[in-house]
Amino acid sequence: MPENILIAIAWPYSNAEIHVGNITGSHLPGDIVARYHRLKGNHVLMVSGTDSHGTPVVIAADKEGKTVEEVYKKYHDTFLEVFKGYGITYDLFTTTHTENHFKVSQAMFLALEKNGLLFKQFSKQWYSPSSNKFLPDRYVEGTCYICGFEGARSDQCDNCGNVLEPERLLNPRAKTGDGALELRDTEHYFIDFSKLEPDVKNFLKERAPHMRDTVLGESLRKIEAEGLKPRAITRDLDWGIPVPVPAGDAGWETKKLYVWFEAVIGYLSAPIEWSQVTGQKDAWRDWWTNPKAKQFHFIGKDNIFFHTSLWPAELMGVGSAFMEIFDPTPGPSPTGRGEKLTLPYDVPANQFMNLEGKKISGSRNWAVWGRDALTRYDPDALRYYLTVNMPEAKDSDWDWAEFVARNNNELVATWGNLANRVLAFCYKNWDGHVPGDTGEPMSLRDGDKQLLATIENGFNTVGAELEAVRLRSALGEAMKLATVVNQYLDTNAPWSAIKVDKAEAGKTVYTALKAIDSLKVMFAPFLPFTCEKLHGFFNYETPIFGEQYTETVKDSLGEHTVLRYREVSRDTISTYWKPSELKPGKKLNQPGPLFKKLEESVIDAERGRLGK
Ligand SMILES: [Zn+2]
Repeated sequence: MPENILIAIAWPYSNAEIHVGNITGSHLPGDIVARYHRLKGNHVLMVSGTDSHGTPVVIAADKEGKTVEEVYKKYHDTFLEVFKGYGITYDLFTTTHTENHFKVSQAMFLALEKNGLLFKQFSKQWYSPSSNKFLPDRYVEGTCYICGFEGARSDQCDNCGNVLEPERLLNPRAKTGDGALELRDTEHYFIDFSKLEPDVKNFLKERAPHMRDTVLGESLRKIEAEGLKPRAITRDLDWGIPVPVPAGDAGWETKKLYVWFEAVIGYLSAPIEWSQVTGQKDAWRDWWTNPKAKQFHFIGKDNIFFHTSLWPAELMGVGSAFMEIFDPTPGPSPTGRGEKLTLPYDVPANQFMNLEGKKISGSRNWAVWGRDALTRYDPDALRYYLTVNMPEAKDSDWDWAEFVARNNNELVATWGNLANRVLAFCYKNWDGHVPGDTGEPMSLRDGDKQLLATIENGFNTVGAELEAVRLRSALGEAMKLATVVNQYLDTNAPWSAIKVDKAEAGKTVYTALKAIDSLKVMFAPFLPFTCEKLHGFFNYETPIFGEQYTETVKDSLGEHTVLRYREVSRDTISTYWKPSELKPGKKLNQPGPLFKKLEESVIDAERGRLGK
């Protein structure tokens, strides 16, 4: 029975480009797991989008003298370029600035209100008399009342790391250059998370067996230490989603849903938008009202608490009210009529990737930018290093010398050369065909059978690591198997054997080709571009993976560009994650190298670009 797998990936914020730390933190691991489950024949939906509301993008627009919409779209376009370039196969990568996301977020708000989980409260906020409006926390800077640091943001001090109470900030000043500020009362909606704390604890306990220790530990520790406290879910801001209060409720037209509250709802709204653009209104419910669906959230460690505690709390909080409000008359669903929303299955959050021993910093250009790196390196070379170096259990470090070494010693020497030399040798000596007679089975020796059994067992061992989202280990396991094939070739040396007994050499070549054909599938989730190329050398008609493309969606807010993925249609094969069935005598295509060896000079050139 195919499983329904939702791959939900952190929504990048629209005020900076994506760097390698973002890619290895969430987008790439999500893509690897999505591709694996698609090969397994599972029903996969992978979504994310641009987080386009909130104050940082408004500040960026002020600074650049552009409209907020122009700024968010500028970064959104660069995200689409990166994901296409790296082969991050989103079924839908959209944005939070859509009519659909507005509607879904407002329905979540109303469902929480209906269930008695919202309350209104006045609090003090900095107000600018000169521009006649409240300033969001991030607009206000001043002196930290804890450590005395002069450049503290009103809600957080980057010097001592404390979360600040904005009204206690000393010497407040507006980032926009407004004159003197004063504290005024403003009313906001809060969600009372304390009522949901026991449910969240149960949720975490149920998932303890398969959640990463880093993720579970941090979440439980935080709840034990601080408890789940009420949080404001509205803000004084022009840009964003209107608060769904009854018409005529004075004062709310200048307030919006708080971005932390609505952006996370994208995990629900994006599948709904995907259903709309693909013309299958209720399809999203296969992943969202089906308790058997497995939802994976790929995020960085800075977002763990939101995804393991606050987001599940919201989902439990809306109960069946969301469906009643959002879609009172849903059509029949193949998975039955689930009334409540499905909770996350796993949150395999990654730690951070540093760069040459220092924290990545966009503003100081201490970064390897996603788009820029693609102008000099092939996507699979980057994907390989970002996977072997993925910060799964602890922070990792991007080191240019290591990038070159691992590319040359592992990707090129162990895997690329293996595939290339066996295919080239076979193509030349067997007239472009797999050794053996068409229609006849190859009679293999014990050593050949043993090798194939070892390689084919990789579908279990590599697969088990992928299921558990241990991607470094999964890729390491596949690379180990490539080494085993290299050893087998060294032992059987078909290049000399062919001079004495071509039939014996043919058995070795056939066995090695079949092993490579299987390894190709195991490597495919990690190295999709080169595995597709290799698949072409084997002259298969149906590609391994489908295609990415962009599309424009129109709604009442205007139009937005989305990234899509068209899955390859396989008539007869439900799973592609299985051993090769390579036939003797099969016609091959002219092979060529899969990877490029990198010069040592790359290391200094790249290091020289940093921090400039
Ligand atoms: Zn401080």
